[in-house]
Amino acid sequence: MPDKAKGKEFRGVEYRLLPGSSANARKLAGIAGACRFVWNYFLAKNKEEYKRAKESDGKKPSVSFFSLGKQFTQLRKEVDWLSEYSFKIVRYSLKHQADAWQGFFKGVRKHPKFHSKYGKCPSFTIPDNVKIKDGRLFIPKVGWMQMRRKGGNPYPDGRPIRATIKKSGRYWKVSVCYEIDARKRTENGVAVGVDLNTDNVAWTDTTGERGMLGIARLDKKDIRIRRYQRKLARQQKGSNRRRVTKRKITKWKRKQKNSRKNQAHQNSRFLANRAEALVREDLKLKNMTASAKGTVENPGKNVKAKAGLNRSMLNASHGRFNQYCDYKFETVVGVDPRYTSQTCNSCGHVDKVNRQTQRSFRCVSCGHADHADLNASANILASGIGASARRGAFGLPTPKTREIDGIFNYAI
Ligand SMILES: [Zn+2]
Repeated sequence: MPDKAKGKEFRGVEYRLLPGSSANARKLAGIAGACRFVWNYFLAKNKEEYKRAKESDGKKPSVSFFSLGKQFTQLRKEVDWLSEYSFKIVRYSLKHQADAWQGFFKGVRKHPKFHSKYGKCPSFTIPDNVKIKDGRLFIPKVGWMQMRRKGGNPYPDGRPIRATIKKSGRYWKVSVCYEIDARKRTENGVAVGVDLNTDNVAWTDTTGERGMLGIARLDKKDIRIRRYQRKLARQQKGSNRRRVTKRKITKWKRKQKNSRKNQAHQNSRFLANRAEALVREDLKLKNMTASAKGTVENPGKNVKAKAGLNRSMLNASHGRFNQYCDYKFETVVGVDPRYTSQTCNSCGHVDKVNRQTQRSFRCVSCGHADHADLNASANILASGIGASARRGAFGLPTPKTREIDGIFNYAI
């Protein structure tokens, strides 16, 4: 992200990019190819230098964008076909590489990888001076190309600052990063607590209202995709029929992704219009979705159940929902997820038995009965606002494992 000016925000918008002719499409692929060539060239060079440095305890190669950029200028003089492509675009692929190396040296990212012609989606970025006019995008050294999006540009006053072009499946797409005036968010002093489940989002707010938002179930799209995947496995490699099946898989995955995105946007928008602050469980979704396979010496338990749960959790797109909430809400609070589903919201009694089935909650101490997910959302809200306002009216004991819908226990 570029440096943020005061009172400004960024938004990405994705369009279809219509090359107009196959010659133009080839030109786009050509630019992506040049970026890939440069990426691989410098990756090989730096990898070699890094290896040597490690062996002799020497200095690590300099991998800042600045120094890679200088070397690129030199390379461009030596490799004459590179001058057919925009200097800025091709050089910018080294910005990604600089970030990748620096992340690797810090130990937060894996070793950067070579880009293969077929493994990775061809892509490149126009780093600055993005020209968009009358719904068309200017690609340096190629020309103007039509962009298309249902509903057009949602930020007509936004200033385009960067555009990334990529091929996904058979389509070219462009995501444009716009700088816009900071949006006004809801300011009504209301907080809403949400409990994210595999098939719904339960919410309770401080005005006492509550409800449940739907999430599409593991749907027909998923069944269809998996059927095609099985078919693909039977088909001969390199055959035309296999190619057709592959294309169908891509198509249905795209549809699935779009509908999940849409759902996450609608749900987060609904809540953001209603409240100023969001309270949610602070779960490390990644840990939860890690496979339960384990190792040979220490095999995991409930592998199959966990795999099914993972699938439905990924289906629910909570990661995406959380990400959208982060920018739609004024304040987001994460609370300790432990025991939120076993605690009675009425008296604070904690017991596993409280939650009798997936849906129903009945307190064994005071008899309070509720929908299990709504009860959980009320607990989440209470512990979120409790931290500041109520000073934790009831404390939650420290458990060793947490129960997810009664299927699988994971350590936290
Ligand atoms: Zn109770």
